[in-house]
Amino acid sequence: MPQINNSNSLDKIVALCKRRGFVFPSSEIYDGFTAVYDFGPYGVELANNIKKEWWRTMTQLRDDVVGLDSAIFMSPKIWEASGHVKGFSDPLTECKKCHTRLRLDALLEEAGIFADEKMSEEKINQIFSENKNKIKCPICGASDFTPGKKFNLLVQSNLGNFTNDWAKEPTYLRGETCQGIYVNFKNVLDSARVKIPFGIAQIGKAFRNEITARQFIFRTREFEQMEMQYFVKPGDDLKYYEEWKAARWKFYLDLGIEEKNLKWHKHENLVFYAREAYDIEYNFPFGFKELEGVHARGDYDLTQHSKFSGQDLQYLDPATNEKFIPHIVETSAGVGRIFLAILTEAYQEETIESETRIVLRLSPKLAPIKIAVFPLLKNKPELVNKAREIFNVLKISWRCEFDDNGNIGKRYRRQDEIGTPYCVTVDFDSLENEEVTVRDRDSMKQERIHISELERFFREKI
Ligand code: ATP
Repeated sequence: MPQINNSNSLDKIVALCKRRGFVFPSSEIYDGFTAVYDFGPYGVELANNIKKEWWRTMTQLRDDVVGLDSAIFMSPKIWEASGHVKGFSDPLTECKKCHTRLRLDALLEEAGIFADEKMSEEKINQIFSENKNKIKCPICGASDFTPGKKFNLLVQSNLGNFTNDWAKEPTYLRGETCQGIYVNFKNVLDSARVKIPFGIAQIGKAFRNEITARQFIFRTREFEQMEMQYFVKPGDDLKYYEEWKAARWKFYLDLGIEEKNLKWHKHENLVFYAREAYDIEYNFPFGFKELEGVHARGDYDLTQHSKFSGQDLQYLDPATNEKFIPHIVETSAGVGRIFLAILTEAYQEETIESETRIVLRLSPKLAPIKIAVFPLLKNKPELVNKAREIFNVLKISWRCEFDDNGNIGKRYRRQDEIGTPYCVTVDFDSLENEEVTVRDRDSMKQERIHISELERFFREKI
C-alpha cells in the first residue's frame, strides 16, 4: 500500500501548474503582469470541463433555466444604475514604509478583527485606529499605514471614445457578468417562452482592479464567472433560495469535493436590498475562503434598471394578470477559484518504495486527458501503428493523448501528475492476442482488455 501524505501546500500546486502546463503567469517573458494568469494546454481542458459541468447542471438538466452570452462592454449607464460607479469599492491603505497597497478589511481580518469591504470608510477607519498596534504589513512588517480610503474596482477603458480625455466619460470592462443578464431580462422573456420562476445562466469574463492580488488564481484582475439569476414572484424568494443553496452545495460534491472541505458562511453585514446571503467556502491551502455566493437580492436589480433606462421591466403573470418586478435569487461562482479548489482536493503525494508519486485524483469527468495510449517501444513500427489505431478510435469519444516518449514508468508518472485516469499500453503480446494493458491511475492496478472491448470499458468508467 502506498503511503499518502496530503501536503497540498499552495507552492506545490503552483509548481505543478507551471511544470505540467496548467497555469502560467501572464506575460512571463516580459517579467509578468500582476494578478493575471494564462491557462496552459491542460489548464484550458480542466477549466472547460468545469464550465461544461456547470452549464450541464444549470441549463441542460433543468427546464427552467436558459443560457445567455452577453457582451463584456455595455452602456456605462448600466454601471451607474447598478451602483458600481459609486459604490463598487474596497478599502485601500498603504504601508508608509514599503509603499505596498493593501486591502484594509483583509489586513484586519488576518489579524482576527472583524471587518468587511461593505463597511463605511468611517467605520472601518475607526476599527483600524482602535487596533493599530495589532496590524503589521505582510511585506515589510512595519506598523505605519495611511488611513483607509475607498478604492473603486471598476476597470475603465476608452472603447468608442476618440478624444484624449476619455477618462472623464469612460466605458467599463464589466465588473460582473450578471448585469448583462438583468438588462436582457425582457429580451429573454419575449423570445424564449419562459415563465416565472425561471433563470438565466451565463459564463464569461469579468474584470476588477483588485488591490491585493495574492494567492495565485484565487484573486485575479481578469477572471471568469459562472452566474445564474433566477427570477421569482415577490414572496417566493426564500423558498427558491433554499432550493438553490441545496443545488449548489450538491454541485461541489458531484465534482468530487469532500464535504468536510466545504462550509457555509453567512453574510452578517447585508446590503440594504438583500434578503439573505451566504457564501460557499472551500478549505484552500490558505484556509476557508469564498468559492461561490448564493444571494437573495430582492427586486433591487430590475428596479434600478427600470428607473435608469425608463423601460418597464415588470412581469405580467399570465395566470393572475398581476404585474410585478420579479425578485432575484443569484448563484455566482468563479471558474478560477473552483479550478484551484479542484486541484487542492485532487493533489496527493504518495510514497511508494521510498519514491514519491505525485498524483491528481481528479474525477474522470474533469480530468484534462481521459486516456493516454502508449506503444511499449518507440522504435517498433508495428507497436506504434497498433497504438495509433487505438488512439484514433478512442479520441473520437474522449480527449486522449498519444505518448511514445521515454520508459513506461515515466510516462505513467507524467499522466498521474496531470490526473489521467487510464493509460493503455500496446506490447508485443497485443499483436498476437489483440489484448492491451489498461492501468488505473488511483489503484495503479493493471488489467488486460481485448481491444474490441475498450470502448465499452471506458464508457462504463468515464
Ligand atoms: P471576495 O469577497 O473574495 O472579493 P466577492 O464577494 O467580491 O469576492 P462576488 O462579487 O460575489 O465576489 O463574485 C462572485 C464570485 O466570483 C466569487 O465567489 C468568486 O468565485 C469570483 N470572484 C470574484 N472576484 C474574483 C477575483 N478577483 N478573482 C477570481 N475570482 C473572483
